[in-house]
Amino acid sequence: MNKVHQKIKKYISKPHFQVFMVSFSMCLLFFFIISKQSGSNIPPRIQAAFDPIISMENDVSKNLNGKPNSINNLLENMFSNTKEHTIEIKNGDSVASLLSDLGICYSEILEVSKSIAPLCELSDLRPGSDKLVVRLKPIENSDSKVKAELKELEIIKSPIYKVVSLKTKDGFKTIEKKSNVNVELVRGEGVIDKGTSLTQVATANNIPYNVIDKFYEVFSFDVDFERDIYPGDRFQIMYEQLYSDNGEYLGNGEVIFASLYLNSRHEELRLFRYENEKGVVGYYDENGKGASKTLKKTPINGARISSKFSNNRKHPILGYSRAHKGVDFAAPSGTPIPAAGDGKVVFRGWKNGYGNYIKIRHNGTYSTAYAHLSKFKSDVKVGTQVKQGQTVGYVGNTGLSTGPHLHYEIIKNGVHVNPLTIKLPSIQNLTKSEIAKFETARDKINIQFAVLDKNFSQFAHLIDINKIDASSIIK
Ligand SMILES: [Zn+2]
Repeated sequence: MNKVHQKIKKYISKPHFQVFMVSFSMCLLFFFIISKQSGSNIPPRIQAAFDPIISMENDVSKNLNGKPNSINNLLENMFSNTKEHTIEIKNGDSVASLLSDLGICYSEILEVSKSIAPLCELSDLRPGSDKLVVRLKPIENSDSKVKAELKELEIIKSPIYKVVSLKTKDGFKTIEKKSNVNVELVRGEGVIDKGTSLTQVATANNIPYNVIDKFYEVFSFDVDFERDIYPGDRFQIMYEQLYSDNGEYLGNGEVIFASLYLNSRHEELRLFRYENEKGVVGYYDENGKGASKTLKKTPINGARISSKFSNNRKHPILGYSRAHKGVDFAAPSGTPIPAAGDGKVVFRGWKNGYGNYIKIRHNGTYSTAYAHLSKFKSDVKVGTQVKQGQTVGYVGNTGLSTGPHLHYEIIKNGVHVNPLTIKLPSIQNLTKSEIAKFETARDKINIQFAVLDKNFSQFAHLIDINKIDASSIIK
């Protein structure tokens, strides 16, 4: 043992060991200084993730007892034996019964409920979505049903919104805690290979399915994705991804830019999202021409065309040749059929070989018709005013039909026209005075897209939670 000690002593006294120790300590000090300073180099989103939490905690403490709340909680947990329970709301759960099950007395449940009521309807909690966090202090040696004292109750409504009720000397105090929605822009692109669809390529390139859906939607007035896409065609997209302050992914926001290069047309279609002076959002091409047309060429996005428009085809059931005055889209029975444009229902019922049939008059020039429906949307009747995209019925196999599909017709001035080739008028065109504003917005989008690396998202901006429409998160 002594020998070992002596060896160590001898080693420590050697100059090279002392040099090593001095440099090691200096390294430690250096890293400590660097790590302190690098706070300013933290990416804005990460930095932003911490600030609101700190300020929120400070707000709570200011409101309640003037001490930093997190330290308060820590001390509370360390010295008072506070227990925390996280409960996911299930069907049939009530806050009162959940608290009662934890051994909290009826008067406290009543008191906390009253305090929360102005901010959050306790009877309105959503099973499978809302969560409760209960902090309580067990009562030692209790022989009654009351086993704990309620200290704090959190109702988590979403990653960006919760209601918190804290017990103070003056009873329960309830506040809302809101987090910002942080928007990042993400770029995606792809080239269609032989034998692959746009959806397959986009999915393989990590573009979320609902963003692809939106991509189809913005081009649906102009492009028939079943017929117009060929190998070598390219697409690009820039869309929003939304995060809470602590970096939790909330879903996808809007598609800001979408481009599609079609070899068959030798052209690149570029669409930009723009909100006009009246606050109406639309997609516009490079020149400010609205992408939305009075009618949709293909009412069901992405549906396969099973039969094209022709003035002469052999009917699959009748056997003899006759004109096919519409386009057939194969789709599963029950698929909702959206109205191709705004208009008024002028026919709804059985019509011979058409089976269940609905016809909408859009204006003095155009009508559209939908045939072989399994059923109609119950609130859509003759005389009903419908909006573009509103469901009017469901795909079926009624009348002379060989399988579930939508037979879709466009009638122009009383004559059936080919929905896939007809040039339809744009709606929501910009006024002359608005074109200049649009051009500024368009140029900004072009720059954002150009600087955005394919593999990295770019921090865009914060959205004020009070202004956000939760339904706009397409997750
Ligand atoms: Zn047909």
